[in-house]
Amino acid sequence: MALSGLQIYKLLPQTNCKECGFPTCLAFAMKLAAKQAELDKCPYVSEEARAQLAESAAPPVRLVTLSADGREVKSGNEIVLYRHEKTFYNPCGIFIRLRDNMPLEALKSAVREAAGYKVDYVGKSLTIDGFALEATGSGAAFAAAIREVLATAVLPLILMSPEAQVLEQGLSAAKEVASAVPLLYAATAENWEPLAALARKFGAPLAVRANTLSELAALTEKVKGAGVDDIVLDPGVRDLKSALALNTLIRRLALKKTFRPLGYPIIAFPGEMADDEGMVAVAATQAVTKYGGFIVLDEFNPALLYPLLALRTNIYTDPQKPIQVQPGVYEINNPQPDSPLMVTTNFSITYFSVANEVDGSGLPGWLLVADAEGMSVLTAWAAGKFDAERIAKAVKSTNIADKLNHRKLIIPGLVSVLLGELEEALPGWQILVGPREAVDLPAYLKLWRAN
Ligand code: SF4
Repeated sequence: MALSGLQIYKLLPQTNCKECGFPTCLAFAMKLAAKQAELDKCPYVSEEARAQLAESAAPPVRLVTLSADGREVKSGNEIVLYRHEKTFYNPCGIFIRLRDNMPLEALKSAVREAAGYKVDYVGKSLTIDGFALEATGSGAAFAAAIREVLATAVLPLILMSPEAQVLEQGLSAAKEVASAVPLLYAATAENWEPLAALARKFGAPLAVRANTLSELAALTEKVKGAGVDDIVLDPGVRDLKSALALNTLIRRLALKKTFRPLGYPIIAFPGEMADDEGMVAVAATQAVTKYGGFIVLDEFNPALLYPLLALRTNIYTDPQKPIQVQPGVYEINNPQPDSPLMVTTNFSITYFSVANEVDGSGLPGWLLVADAEGMSVLTAWAAGKFDAERIAKAVKSTNIADKLNHRKLIIPGLVSVLLGELEEALPGWQILVGPREAVDLPAYLKLWRAN
């Protein structure tokens, strides 16, 4: 049975030395109880206490990390089935599949193009996480391709081959070029022994694949028994319905029953689940939303990646902490003293909606972002976080008046009700009611005059 934070605390050294990265033993105990920390972070736990704590302290979904020269992608450590219950912690890694028999220049160009792809979304720069390189022949050819990939872009790798000898040459190359710790794909009932030995030798995570959940659980037990702790699951199915059912079952068993043999991240191959582009997008979307930990796309396709990266960002943000931008004054298109001043809230999506519309219009403007605790305009107003007092405080604390030759403030049309209160809170200012939607701002600003 899981221990409470206080029960765990009693088994810790209670010296508060901070070496675990937490300020006190109690704080560390609470994180262990919440399955958000690993017991190994405390070097002073006695063997006796370790034995008592081991079962309780291990996260229900083990954290697996792939890396290359310090760039990491992590999956695991999740503690809830649904994001709204708390939050999801480690965004799934998105990988692009390549083969070692691609012509050299084509391989390098594919790596360059995919690794250079960036999406700016609500203030974040979103990218792919790595490459899945598939061996088609000898270990030497595989190692040569890995060298080229890593020489072109240093990103975490998934190495794909059923042959231990081929994988070993690839692993050696990856380690030599970028100190990489790739995922090995995949151990099956036929080849698990040499692959487990290889994973253990290199300290690399190992994916296991089987055709049924019971076979999969049996295989992870064997691999773990061979000394491999970092395991990734491939439930083997390649259709939408079965993948949804099995991924959900795996995660439920791990979280609700603490079923250790299936308490690992899951790998997904959307390209193997459908033939046409649209259904591949559906499969990839399902994998992002339903427990895919590492997602391997068959090709680099910006039309698919953009929505997928944006979706991942939304799924893996804490629903209790809205994405916020820093309150303050933002200058758009080189504003002058006679440029319009608009006010909005510091909810990222609100800010970017407004800022992008003004930016796209080509018209200059000052955007005053008030601290509304990360809420959108109407929500913040309803919660009393975007009222006349807060807006007036933002105007005064930023000294924006010093940069203007006018005293006009445009408020969102959704909160036109604030007009009277704001005129009282900001004597000498003229309050103008702007459009209700950001998309109508360009037309509104074209008509705006300072005097
Ligand atoms: S490292 Fe161990 S002893 Fe030190 S603060 Fe953390 S839990 Fe306590």
